[in-house]
Formats: sequence, structure tokens, C-alpha cells
Amino acid sequence: MTFETDIRQSAARLCLPTPVLSIVVPVRDEEEAIAVFLERVVSVVTALDDAAADSFEILFVDDGSTDCSLELLRSANAADQRVRVLSFSRNFGKEAALSAGLDHALGDAVVPMDVDLQDPPEALAAMLEKWREGFEVVFGVRSNRERDSAAKRITAHLFYRAHNRLSNDKIPEHAGDFRLLDRKVVDVIRSMPERSRFMKGMFAWAGFRQASVEYARQPRQHGTTKFNYWKLWTFALDGITATSTMPLRVWSYIGVTIAALALAYAGFIVTRTLIFGIDVPGYASLIVAILFLGGLQLLSLGIIGEYIGRILVETKQRPLYVVREQIG
Ligand code: UDP
Ligand code: MG
Repeated sequence: MTFETDIRQSAARLCLPTPVLSIVVPVRDEEEAIAVFLERVVSVVTALDDAAADSFEILFVDDGSTDCSLELLRSANAADQRVRVLSFSRNFGKEAALSAGLDHALGDAVVPMDVDLQDPPEALAAMLEKWREGFEVVFGVRSNRERDSAAKRITAHLFYRAHNRLSNDKIPEHAGDFRLLDRKVVDVIRSMPERSRFMKGMFAWAGFRQASVEYARQPRQHGTTKFNYWKLWTFALDGITATSTMPLRVWSYIGVTIAALALAYAGFIVTRTLIFGIDVPGYASLIVAILFLGGLQLLSLGIIGEYIGRILVETKQRPLYVVREQIG
């Protein structure tokens, strides 16, 4: 977030008419998908029974694409002023792209949407309706997950279970990034300074009146998924460590347990020695000391680790993304 974009934004918000709806679309190497996406979304949105039909923008965030995506987006902007484009200097990841989209979107309501049309734009009608009723966050809940492989469904379920048990911010299961956010919510998210941006967790933290609409997640129209299992695993770890200190703290408990076990073992050895005499001199005191101190060390490392983990994440204070070019 640079000073310049802030000025630009407040100027736009004060002087120019701002759109009702901003659709934020992260794009990475999606040359086959962009044209189809635009055609479908524009036709669906212009047909909406809402003020958004005449007043919307589609803000693409090019997340360091290496194919012709940026060129396609450039010509889309030339053909239609409602299309705006931000282009990153390299790949920063989808979460950073969404952050940039929220920073630069001008609409009263903002909806992040994948370019592969897995989030059906038809669901926008129901979302806008809920928004008009006064809900500030309307998240899309996937009514079908059967298209995902069994492994993905199970791991996703385990992740939500683990996350919601360990963290105070409960995230709804089956809800992706496809959701409508009121300007108020967007501004809260933008004001959150943390570097590790696990969007689902941040939305959950922000609160506000929330509603959900069901939608059937579609198969990817073109291209292939940009997430492999390793990326999803890292993403899951980020998600848990971003909002929970439990993984650090657990070592303290393990340390206490080991120390307690070592103490009990010490009691056992002492009693046995008193009754049966010494079999290997020195062995008992040695093993007890090693185990007990090992436990204590884990305990203290756990406590230090808790602080270092937090400090590391926050001290770098680098920008979340670098914009090379802004079109429109
Ligand atoms: N994406 C991105 N940066 C990345 C990876 C993905 O902006 O590093 C975009 C991608 O172009 C798409 C959206 O994020 O619009 C979702 O990606 P994908 O469909 O590959 O994920 P999936 O639907 O399989 O979870
Ligand atoms: Mg997808």
C-alpha cells in the first residue's frame, strides 16, 4: 500500500462516481480463461436486477503471469473501461493478489472471484440481495464437493477441523474466497497490518453481520489448477499459524509431560534401588537427568519459540506485493 495509491483512491472516492460492485479477479497464467470469464461475467452482471448492473468494475490482478494474460487484460481494458488491471512485478501468490484487489477496488461491495469460472457469477444475484438486506459479508458455501477427489475432500475437512479447534477465528467449512464484502469490511481488512495474510481467517476475525448463499462449484473451464498438494499443505500451515499460537505452545505441554514422566521414572528407580539394590551404578541418575532436562529444555524452547514466531512474522514489514503497472 503506497501513499500514492491511497491518494488516488480517496480522490476517486470523493470526486468520481464509484462503482456499486467491484469484482476482484486474481490471475496467474490464465490466457485461455480470461475472454470466456469476461464475456460470461459481463453478461450476467449487466442482466442483474440491481444498481450494480449499471455500475460495476472488474479489477484483474495479474499475479506475475508469464503467458499472454497481461496483454489480453490490456486489450480488455482498452475495449471496456469497466475492466481495470493491476500487474505485479512477480508472482506473489493468490492471497497477496486478493489483498491488492481489496486495496484498489473502488466499489461499495467487493467480490473476489476466480478467473476459471469455478465460482459461478450467477450466484451474485443472491449475494447482492442479501447485501441489500443489510448483511455485510455474504459468503458462498459450496453445495457440492463431490467433484473434488476424496483425498482433497478429506484433507480439506481435516484442515477446517484442525483450524477451528486451534484458532479463535472460526472459518466456515466449504466457504472459499468467493464472497461479497461490504466496503466497511474491506476497509477493516485493509487496515489489518499483518504480513501473513490468510484471508479466510481475516474475514472471520473481522466479524460483521454474515449470511451465506449456496452455490454449486463448477469444474475448471480452462487450464489447470495452480495449486498442488504441497502448496495446499503450506497454505494450511499458514492458515493455522496465522491465527493460532497453539502449534508453538504445544511444545510447552510436551515438555511438562516429559518432565513429569521423568520424575515418575526417577521415583520408580529410587524405589527399585531401595528394594533390589543397585544393578548398574550411575545409569539411573544419568537417564533421569537427561530426560528431565530434555523436558525442561523443550518447555523453555516452546516459550521462546512462541515469541520468536510472532516477532519474525511481523518485523519484516515488507510490502505485501509490488505493483509494476496499473491499467485503468
Ligand atoms: N492464482 C493467483 N496466483 C497464484 C495461483 C493462483 O492469482 O499464485 C489465481 C488463479 O489464476 C485463479 C485463482 O487464483 O484465478 C484460483 O486458482 P486455481 O483455480 O488454480 O485454484 P483452485 O480453484 O484449484 O483452488
Ligand atoms: Mg480454480
